[in-house]
Amino acid sequence: MASSTMSSAIATCSFCLKPDSEVEALVAGPGVFICGGCVELCRQVIENKPASVPRLAPWEQAHDVETVLRSLPLVAKASVQVEESLTGWVRRARALGASWARIGAALEMTRQSAWERFSGEE
Ligand SMILES: [Zn+2]
Repeated sequence: MASSTMSSAIATCSFCLKPDSEVEALVAGPGVFICGGCVELCRQVIENKPASVPRLAPWEQAHDVETVLRSLPLVAKASVQVEESLTGWVRRARALGASWARIGAALEMTRQSAWERFSGEE
């Protein structure tokens, strides 16, 4: 059910995974999106940020396995969203006339790799 909701959405918040139809506003970044609710949460986190924060990757800050296991499907969904967004941007580049060579160069990969990854052809 959740996956059909996500696939019918134009975009979903990369942080809470709510579809654009369920949030007031969705701000787009490079392959990611953030909703107004998550912006507000970010504002609160920044406002209440302690003076010194350990410089660790988010997964290194987790200290119990349940927290890590809860994060895995969320990170996986965000990864799928970013990949779908990248594919959408590549298809748009193609529709606007970009060659596979130029797309490959932009992504720092070969023309062949870009074509294999994004063309949908085999
Ligand atoms: Zn959100």
